[in-house]
Amino acid sequence: MSAAGPSQGAKAPRGGSAAHEVASVGAHITRRDLLQTGTLVLLLGRAQLASGASIVAVRVWPAEDYSRVTLESDRELKAKQTLIGTPPRLAVDIEGIDLNPELKELVAKVRPDDPNIAGIRVGQYAPKVVRMVIDLKQAIKPQVFTLHPVAAYQYRLVFDLYPVQAPDPLAALIAERLRLKEGGNETAPPPAPAATGPKAGADPLGDLIAQHAQKGSGPGAAPVLPPRGTGQTDRLIIIALDPGHGGEDPGATGPRGTREKDVVLRLAHRLRDRINATRVNGHTLHAFLTRDGDYFVPLHVRVQKARHVQADLFVSIHADAFFTPRPQGASVFALSHGGASSSAARWMAAKENKADLIGGVNVKSKDQQVARALLDMSTSAQIKDSLKLGGTLLQEIGRVGKLHRGRVEQAGFAVLKAPDIPSVLVEAAFISNPDEEAKLNSEAYQEQLADALMRGIEGYFAKNPPLARSRVV
Ligand SMILES: [Zn+2]
Repeated sequence: MSAAGPSQGAKAPRGGSAAHEVASVGAHITRRDLLQTGTLVLLLGRAQLASGASIVAVRVWPAEDYSRVTLESDRELKAKQTLIGTPPRLAVDIEGIDLNPELKELVAKVRPDDPNIAGIRVGQYAPKVVRMVIDLKQAIKPQVFTLHPVAAYQYRLVFDLYPVQAPDPLAALIAERLRLKEGGNETAPPPAPAATGPKAGADPLGDLIAQHAQKGSGPGAAPVLPPRGTGQTDRLIIIALDPGHGGEDPGATGPRGTREKDVVLRLAHRLRDRINATRVNGHTLHAFLTRDGDYFVPLHVRVQKARHVQADLFVSIHADAFFTPRPQGASVFALSHGGASSSAARWMAAKENKADLIGGVNVKSKDQQVARALLDMSTSAQIKDSLKLGGTLLQEIGRVGKLHRGRVEQAGFAVLKAPDIPSVLVEAAFISNPDEEAKLNSEAYQEQLADALMRGIEGYFAKNPPLARSRVV
């Protein structure tokens, strides 16, 4: 259905020289191409059309983790890039294209608050060669890769610009925790004098937070956390909230154009605020978002981030879609050991697992291969706890909205694979159902849903008190 079918993808030479590629692209103008670009053929004549690709869209996705620049084109692009140190910038020569209005739009698409990109310049460097210079705000490790047509996209040439000094999610969490404490909107736990009590070491994360607090007390005078209470009463419980999709991957889209990635982020923010204002049995709760912005986070990175902050729970938030408008109601999923609990669950997992294809990951990156292999560990205990968590969530959601199924379903969701964190995926409603799309957009229903999820999390901890931290990340 997409403009360029798989036959063209297969034709694109992988390791071939640029010259060979340009030649082969030129030789393979099909009748379909001519039909699709009929007007252009009349205006330009065949010679120009045959000479290369056209940029159809450009996108910039800024985020702390990394900033992405995407060039979408009707044919595969060939690019050579050079990283230049001072001032830091990435110079890219893209072969086989002319500067066009779409490409020029890039310049204006860089936001002043982009953490990584200072600006982008483009120019016609030579006939059929466009030079793009990305001016950087800091030292960057770029990943440049091509994605073949998928979903609504044609070919994509992707520049992922990772800061050499990668942001540390744990440091961010600690900073936020301290900010909340400073705000004083939380009753401080009773201070305990002994830092060397018998419980010392039982809460490595708590220790780390205390260390950071002391280290950070420079000129900025970061507040020092009150000492930990007696082990049982002052244990920070971290709930990883995982808003699905983001950036290049919009997720499902409702009949009125609501995008899954937007509504689930809003819902995650509401739940975050509730979590951060809640204590369970004297324990402080704190929410950690795997994605807090409109950019794509690969599935295994979401899991990695949650493990890095030693999350106690992982709640992935989504909104279903189906081909027909009828299906409705919320569902909750856990990981399965073997097969899925139903064909619908298997279908849903396959659909959600496609996020990486649409969002776009560099499959050749070594880091990602290693990380993925690490997640294929035993998960029996995790699944047991996840089913308990899913059960309480489902029960609470059922009080405020319809349920698609009355029990927690199971399937092989990639994002639920943290072997040591109870993990569930909540499909809050069917965004493809017009009534539910409207509800997802309504502030009142978002509030109700966030309340329900909060009660579910509290209910889980009431029956399954958190254990002392003993995990090693
Ligand atoms: Zn989704």
